[in-house]
Amino acid sequence: MAGYLIDKDKGKCYGCEACVQICPKSALKMEEDDEGFRYPILNKDLCVKCNLCHQVCLYENMPVRYGKDKYVFGGYIKDEEVRFESTSGGAFSAIVDTFCDDNYVIFGAESKGLLVWHSYITDKKNLAKFRKSKYSQSKMGKSYQQAKYFLNSGKKVLFSGTPCQISGLKAFLRNTNQDNLLTVEVICEGVPSPLYIRKYEQSLKKKFGALIESIDYRYKGHSFLGHHKWDFEIMRTTVMMNDNKKKVIEKDRWFNPFWYIWLKHLMSRPSCYECLFTTTERTADISLGDLWGVHIYCPELYGKDGGSSLAIANTEKGKSVLKKAEGSMYGHELRFEDVLRYQGPMRKHIEMNPKREQFMQDLKSEMDIEDINRKWADKPSIKLLWQKYVWGNRQKVFVWSIWNRK
Ligand SMILES: Cc1cc2nc3c(=O)[nH]c(=O)nc-3n(C[C@H](O)[C@H](O)[C@H](O)COP(=O)(O)OP(=O)(O)OC[C@H]3O[C@@H](n4cnc5c(N)ncnc54)[C@H](O)[C@@H]3O)c2cc1C
Repeated sequence: MAGYLIDKDKGKCYGCEACVQICPKSALKMEEDDEGFRYPILNKDLCVKCNLCHQVCLYENMPVRYGKDKYVFGGYIKDEEVRFESTSGGAFSAIVDTFCDDNYVIFGAESKGLLVWHSYITDKKNLAKFRKSKYSQSKMGKSYQQAKYFLNSGKKVLFSGTPCQISGLKAFLRNTNQDNLLTVEVICEGVPSPLYIRKYEQSLKKKFGALIESIDYRYKGHSFLGHHKWDFEIMRTTVMMNDNKKKVIEKDRWFNPFWYIWLKHLMSRPSCYECLFTTTERTADISLGDLWGVHIYCPELYGKDGGSSLAIANTEKGKSVLKKAEGSMYGHELRFEDVLRYQGPMRKHIEMNPKREQFMQDLKSEMDIEDINRKWADKPSIKLLWQKYVWGNRQKVFVWSIWNRK
């Protein structure tokens, strides 16, 4: 299948950066388009037509994917502090812990302010920077080259990222011996345009005179009863003001236009609407996600709303690590058919909203974020608020636990 490098169709470039990193002449460079998404741009003067970029393009050569014989686990890490700091139930940290001996390297996405990029650590004490989902496509830098270097020097490498990034790595590595490589992907339904969050930052700068210091897209919060709120998907933005005081803004998902607009599929990367990785066949050894639907089919794993993980081993290698990691988690095996019902990104890619073009025009215009939100994000209905705050998942699990008390 022809990809972006051939026909410049933006729907056919995941932005995985494998082509940029494989180029021996540095003839390809990632550049942002007017929607804020990054694409490889070729400097024809440097190109020697070696064809390597085409060989690693995921559209032209899809890496092997693993379909059958999955092992599925649901649950959460026993260490409550790590669980709180993780997006879901902390399965990623449990897996890293199991993987590490005395000769390892871990790759993941870290962030500062609005920037998100891939880097590596050689001491698992520094794992905190990779925890938490950053809902923006990370820049890969030289991470594939570095992973190859470490594998060739005999280190164990754990590489985490989105399915297209893991596939980009696999395509890049080609004949490199991968016995010491473990790949861990997040189950992903797409990445949003960075323009939105930049506009949001501009409006905060106008109000408070300072830029965003950090964004926690999945802050678990504390309710007035002291429990956490994993499935409220609270976005917590911290702005450091001139007088060194911190301004913290927290918004539950249903009051947050960012979530509303993104999940209406108005601002995802074009390739996310055609993503070939949203199937049960995966490239990574292990797939990680939120255990959505937990309150319905396995309420015993809800664990007071502190976050629950879904971990799927797609290969024997993945299964053996996951089985060991279970030692530091509460949980049990699940049926893949049950899990699949609540995991859209494992069945089908998202559909492009027919109004995406109109929305992107507004986002690219001088319109400020408040006007964009007023125009494009709806307020939650009374029915929705009732379903979430009065008769929500937590209340249902509470009733279930009383009913089943021995
Ligand atoms: C863009 C994106 C979309 C997602 N969509 C879904 C979804 O639709 N359904 C679902 O069930 N789960 C989704 N997830 C996965 C989920 O949010 C958690 O990341 C996952 O469950 C792991 O959580 P954890 O508690 O085990 O560990 P954590 O410690 O929180 O794990 C964080 C992991 O995510 C990686 N990561 C964080 N940000 C990025 C990034 N920008 N790019 C690449 N890797 C990143 C880190 O390297 C690390 O491996 C998505 C994650 C991302 C980053």
